[in-house]
Amino acid sequence: MQILDGKIVSQAVKDDLKQKTAELISKGGKTPHLAAILIGNNGASETYVASKVKNCEEVGYNSSLIRFETSVDEATLISTIEKLNADDDIDGILVQLPLPKSINEDKIISLIHPDKDVDGFHPMSIGKMIQGLPTFLPATPYGILLMLEHYKIETKGKYAVVIGRSNIVGRPISILLNRNTYPGNCTVTVCHSHTHNLKEICLQGDIIIAALGIPEFLKNDMVKEGAVVIDVGITRVPDTTKKSGFSIKGDVDFTNVAPKCSYISPVPGGVGMMTIAALLMNTFNAAKIKSEK
Ligand code: NAD
Repeated sequence: MQILDGKIVSQAVKDDLKQKTAELISKGGKTPHLAAILIGNNGASETYVASKVKNCEEVGYNSSLIRFETSVDEATLISTIEKLNADDDIDGILVQLPLPKSINEDKIISLIHPDKDVDGFHPMSIGKMIQGLPTFLPATPYGILLMLEHYKIETKGKYAVVIGRSNIVGRPISILLNRNTYPGNCTVTVCHSHTHNLKEICLQGDIIIAALGIPEFLKNDMVKEGAVVIDVGITRVPDTTKKSGFSIKGDVDFTNVAPKCSYISPVPGGVGMMTIAALLMNTFNAAKIKSEK
């Protein structure tokens, strides 16, 4: 069994980006600049955004963090996005999800200019992804692809089972694994909360992507010997032994599933770090495209 180590792979991606960024700037291109919008004070969202900003610094990008109270009205948010869309120095815009219930998430995401949609959630980006056209891929699925690539995991002809069908993880990774390219060429089944015989389906999976948000859902008796298991889940569970009062759990019962796997990603230290690496890749590409115009 080999661990799919998000720390190692994301560091390799960042080292490469740091070099490419220095090259881009030395050739007269622009310094990539990511703008992140954070609303409210959800602990997990704060941590993710802080990490995204810190990682931008690490690779030599500029970043701007724009914060609002939960009570922010939609009009303020819309005018902020419009300003960022019009600002030539900003290459990428991300709105940290989830948004407060009073704000229409789909509407806000669709306002981000597709050329700056580095999270890859805009309907235009998703449409291009489905058609196999060049675009920004959604960050978490893209991170999973980078991980499969790094470990040279064979995907052609494999049976992939994706658990979860969200717009940001399950559905896009199912489409990407099904593309006629590497990583891809899998036969994919997408499971969700209404799927019958989920255990039987998972037992066929050469590759299983668990993205449902239920801690330790995927058990040892649901996985065949030699499977590649990728755990996307991140759930904070109360833990009095931790200073923070919680620990992070994935969707896979790692201790009991890992011995059966050929490869498995841990939580933490797996896909989460790859999501940030993918976001940095998209931001670099946005700046490069602009520099070449
Ligand atoms: P979501 O809540 O939007 O979707 C969950 C999906 O799981 C739904 O499609 C639902 O049908 C399915 N589901 C729920 N219960 C199920 C069951 N019993 N059996 C089968 N399917 C079931 O979730 P999401 O936004 O895709 O996030 C999923 C998990 O991934 C969460 O823990 C989230 O925190 C994590 N996540 C991690 C990253 C990362 O960078 N690692 C990024 C995004 C999300």
